[in-house]
Amino acid sequence: MLSFPDSFRFGTATAATQIEGGCTTSDWYAFAQQPGRIKGGGRPDVACDGWRRWRDDLAIQKSLGLGAYRMSIEWARIEPRPNEIDQAALDEYRRMLGAMRDAGIEPMVTLHHFTLPKWLADRGGLLAEGFHTRLARFARVAAGALGDVCRFWITINEPNVLAAQAYLLGAWPPARQSPTEALRAHHRMLAAHVAAYRALKDVLGDDAQVGVAHHLRLAQPARPESSADRMMAHVFARVFNDSFALATCTGRMYGPLDALVTGPEGFRVAEARGTQDFFGINYYSRDVVRFSPGHAAELFAERSVPPGVEVSDLGWEVYPEGLGMIVRAWAQRSGVPVYITENGIADATDSRRGPFLVRHLAQLARAIADGVDVRGYFHWSLLDNFEWAEGYGPRFGLVEVDYATQDRRIRDSGHLYAKIARERVLL
Ligand code: BGC
Repeated sequence: MLSFPDSFRFGTATAATQIEGGCTTSDWYAFAQQPGRIKGGGRPDVACDGWRRWRDDLAIQKSLGLGAYRMSIEWARIEPRPNEIDQAALDEYRRMLGAMRDAGIEPMVTLHHFTLPKWLADRGGLLAEGFHTRLARFARVAAGALGDVCRFWITINEPNVLAAQAYLLGAWPPARQSPTEALRAHHRMLAAHVAAYRALKDVLGDDAQVGVAHHLRLAQPARPESSADRMMAHVFARVFNDSFALATCTGRMYGPLDALVTGPEGFRVAEARGTQDFFGINYYSRDVVRFSPGHAAELFAERSVPPGVEVSDLGWEVYPEGLGMIVRAWAQRSGVPVYITENGIADATDSRRGPFLVRHLAQLARAIADGVDVRGYFHWSLLDNFEWAEGYGPRFGLVEVDYATQDRRIRDSGHLYAKIARERVLL
């Protein structure tokens, strides 16, 4: 029987643009209006109507007995125009977080979850002059307004995914396809993370716990006997998966190349060393990697899913062992407590989510039994929601959302998760 200590936090995760609706000042609001950008033409205009229905969604979490919730605050809503802070929006977030705490649910707030105020995107977004200062200033505003109702903070969600989707693959705004811009964006986000980390600590002191939600995957060679595949897997893992996370632990991002990159105001990668109080891991799947001359933009790595394996509705392999390996490796590398800040599956029929949950949690319970300091798990997601360029097709929720009526229905996997959270054992 595998068990979890009483202090272990079971929670769920969401992000503002994916659930809230009602924000017209973000880059994603504008992007989704461009034809062909989002599958099925989906737009985040209403999403789950969470901005108006958060009390209902909090009641659902309470009824499930969950003790933690990771959410993001929408920068575009709080600062809709440069230097203009919408106090009413901050007050609403304050009510939200206060009610959460009153319900015995520990909040974790993400400052930047993929989206930007449109005005900032128009000035160059992540590559804009002074982006890091802007994020740090936003961090100060958020900490000042919400610091007494929130102890756990994430500066940036999945910088590696954002750099790749927005600047390399052209799938997210600003839809660029430039390896050099992708590298610059990645580096700029590191500088911005460091600036935001310092700002939060400066305002809130040492009691605030600040980290990054790192998207980490395994990269393994498709043909282990092929040295080209092995090398590609290594390079892909080193550059895409690990570099940002490594920088926050060791102050080294791309190894010897770090000496060549200087950031805003002379920012050096070495400054990122030790800039997290906990290590956040978003884990979904692994990549089986094969050397492919046709995939230059992706570092010559063609990623695939092995034949016959179980996959999600998005075709991602279900590979729980990867979570165990990643948690163990990064707990050691980072030297700080680990939280699984996201893990979940697109599964519209809810036939795979229950076993998915149990198998991933089992990896954590085993790691904890072996002495690894894992403190919590946030399932992605509480609700079905707006899945970026994939639109509303993928269903990640423990709770099903009927977008026509906004009715919520707890899925069987939601009840199963509640039972695990209550009993703290996996049978
Ligand atoms: C992101 C979420 C997203 C989820 C499922 C993560 O990469 O942080 O915003 O919905 O994965 O794709």
